[in-house]
Amino acid sequence: MNVNNIVRKVYPKLTPYKCELADLPVDEIKAVLGKETVYKLSFNESPLGPSPKVIQAMTDSLYDLNLYPSSAGDSIMKKIAEIEGISPEQVILSNGADEMIILIAQTFLEPEDEVIIPKLSFIQYLAATNLMGATPVFSEMKKDLSYDLEDILSRITSKTKAIFLCNPNNPTGTIIPKTALVKFLSNIPDHIMVVIDEAYQEYAVSPEFESGVRYINQHKFLFVVRTFSKAYSLAGARLGYGIGTMNVIDAINHVRPPFNVNAVVQAGALASLEDIEHIQEAKALNNQGKEMMYEVLESLGLPYLKSDTNFVYIDTKVDSSVIFQKLAEYGVIVRTLKGYGLDTSIRVSVGKHEEVLAFVNSLKKIITQA
Ligand SMILES: *Cc1c(COP(=O)(O)O)cnc(C)c1O
Repeated sequence: MNVNNIVRKVYPKLTPYKCELADLPVDEIKAVLGKETVYKLSFNESPLGPSPKVIQAMTDSLYDLNLYPSSAGDSIMKKIAEIEGISPEQVILSNGADEMIILIAQTFLEPEDEVIIPKLSFIQYLAATNLMGATPVFSEMKKDLSYDLEDILSRITSKTKAIFLCNPNNPTGTIIPKTALVKFLSNIPDHIMVVIDEAYQEYAVSPEFESGVRYINQHKFLFVVRTFSKAYSLAGARLGYGIGTMNVIDAINHVRPPFNVNAVVQAGALASLEDIEHIQEAKALNNQGKEMMYEVLESLGLPYLKSDTNFVYIDTKVDSSVIFQKLAEYGVIVRTLKGYGLDTSIRVSVGKHEEVLAFVNSLKKIITQA
């Protein structure tokens, strides 16, 4: 008996996490390239690292590792609720935002449902949709690579259960302007779930950006996903959360594993939410890095998108695999966007000063030699 005979019907649509060079941990990249210095700008990780206060809180929590963590993570829920001006019962924690996306799918998606996903967005919406055997319906992007909200609305059918949006969007770094978001939400039928993934919201600089949390109590099935992996520098510890109406949170709690969020990250996240200076520093560093990238990209005449995240979308105008390979020779690892059918585009995380410098200097050499 082959294992393929006993796995679920959706199995052919599921793929294990790919591990190409850009996906490896930095030590493994060093080993593969035989380099001592590698600038990994493919994961949108925070270059700052957790603050000393966070590390202290996490270290202290280690002495109680014999005990199960708080199941719901009450103290973090309370703190988030306080910051967002909502009630703690409107918050739910997950093992990274990735698990939140899967929990939403497991709670709400049936095989007969359709899920609308923008074509150029975070890949896990498709993975979660496929996991449940629901049907993904892709929405086209506008010419400027922003979301076409009219196109999304036009794809709603009687089978539509959910719509995934990423704001600011990965991999373009662009936002949905607040007036457009409000208008969009007002046109969504009541029974459809709108999931807004705000993994990068802390980095948003545009005055046109607004979090969906403001509208949670106006649209019954609006749900916002956040993470501590990006601006809060805790990707390795895994913590995400969702904000929604109490009914939606309660429904997801029927599916959530009881101890999905470990005690160490609970301690660290609480300390990180209280460490305002660290997040300010992360944002300032990110803005400086972006400005430095914009300047060089403009001097090289390469099209890019102004970013409200910690990465920049760049059209290199040549085969991105070639650029990737040449950058790797300088120890700089970026992400190509070939999986989206974009053959000349790359996404580059904004690292710390020397990482951004390594990227722009290498890119300059590669482009001017070509
Ligand atoms: C990084 C990222 C996530 C995943 O966050 P984790 O909390 O590390 O699972 C979710 N959504 C988007 C858009 C991301 O870029």
